[in-house]
Amino acid sequence: MADALDYARSNTERFREELFDFLRIPSVSARSEHDGDTEKAARWLAERLRAAGLTSEVIETPGHPVVLGEWRDAGPEAPTVLIYGHYDVQPPEPLDLWTSPPFEPTVREGRIYARGSADDKGQLHMHVKALESWLQGAGTLPINVVVVAEGEEEVGSENLAPFVEKYRERLACDAVVISDSAMFDEGLPSLLFSLRGLAYVEVHVRAAKGDLHSGAYGGAVANPAMALARMLATLHDENGRVTIPGFYDQVKEWDADTRSAIAGLPFDEERFRSGVGAPGLTGEAGFSTLERLWIRPTCEVNGLLSGYTGEGAKTVLPAKAMAKVSFRLVPDQDPKRIARLMEDHLRAVKPEGVAVEVVELHGGNPWRADPSGPLFDAAGRALEQAFGATPVLVGEGGSIPIVGDFERILGAPALLVGFALPGCNMHAPDEWFTIDNYDRGIGALVRLYDELGTSLRG
Ligand SMILES: [Zn+2]
Repeated sequence: MADALDYARSNTERFREELFDFLRIPSVSARSEHDGDTEKAARWLAERLRAAGLTSEVIETPGHPVVLGEWRDAGPEAPTVLIYGHYDVQPPEPLDLWTSPPFEPTVREGRIYARGSADDKGQLHMHVKALESWLQGAGTLPINVVVVAEGEEEVGSENLAPFVEKYRERLACDAVVISDSAMFDEGLPSLLFSLRGLAYVEVHVRAAKGDLHSGAYGGAVANPAMALARMLATLHDENGRVTIPGFYDQVKEWDADTRSAIAGLPFDEERFRSGVGAPGLTGEAGFSTLERLWIRPTCEVNGLLSGYTGEGAKTVLPAKAMAKVSFRLVPDQDPKRIARLMEDHLRAVKPEGVAVEVVELHGGNPWRADPSGPLFDAAGRALEQAFGATPVLVGEGGSIPIVGDFERILGAPALLVGFALPGCNMHAPDEWFTIDNYDRGIGALVRLYDELGTSLRG
């Protein structure tokens, strides 16, 4: 391993220059005018995997292609690790809020500013360079490797699960490693133990066939805006708990160890509050802010629409009202079941005189890791050596449905080890990634492959 680490250390400048080339390609998956760039990023990545010493191919899908890299010469006894990342990025707009152009990587105060520097080109590139450090520096790797890099993560990964199904034998592995998340704080390496799932519905309430004069009809015909407000107000009780019957039935309680680990994190609640700029924090009674974010399910109104909202007064009795409502879910809640329970609940509390329709938009399953096995132990040792600090276990309030898909289809556990930092502006202007974490992270991954080679050995 010393040779691989030496190689990584003596090539840091070149690695960074190469990363800048990757970041200069505007692979915005959401925009068809960038389809050529997205394709170019895929080919660029496949070429870098070959230069690192893997075989690689660009495999077409109904959407953007998947880049598949492989190296399988560690022998049948050695474990196989699948490394997943994505080479597409979010649109950079609004451009005027960027200090330097989004696709011209610029270093300021130890940070690389560019779209994709943190999410996820920077972190994917670290894996490519860690693989290169082994293969070119040490001439071998302690694990067999399959790299899967998709170009549609930022637009919902629609074609990835079918791809994994189709190639399931070729993608068979002992573990899936993903670097597309953040550390809890600077200098505090982190391993993710959970992701929340998602259920998203649209609620349509209607009464009259068209808008009415609120003087001529108000008081006798139902008002959908009022009806919708009343229905939404029934979704929580005074303790911040969701009141939909059956909502918590499938929630797996968390063990005392996890809860005390969360309580032990260096979390500054006041800094969090002032960071979001709200006058106060609130949520489900009996749970801390981090618990409310990571291990408890939620129900939120994401949007409301009804009646007249233009300038001045218009005395109208609206014909319809609409709300977008989403639920963040925790294991073992099922998105389809939650959407159904929501519909049943709204029908039960619906006031007289209106009709209600619930449309299910989309959903994703929650995920929870078993942090007690050899996978987390191996990652813990690698991170500790690279960062000189004991890694912490953290949750993530957001959703990455593909993690559960990998585990389900391939039957292998996932390890989410990310190197971005809080406040790094993923999806926002001035996205950044620190040079220090890029360099240290490559060292951590070189060590991780080594640790996995030993701990997952059949
Ligand atoms: Zn990402």
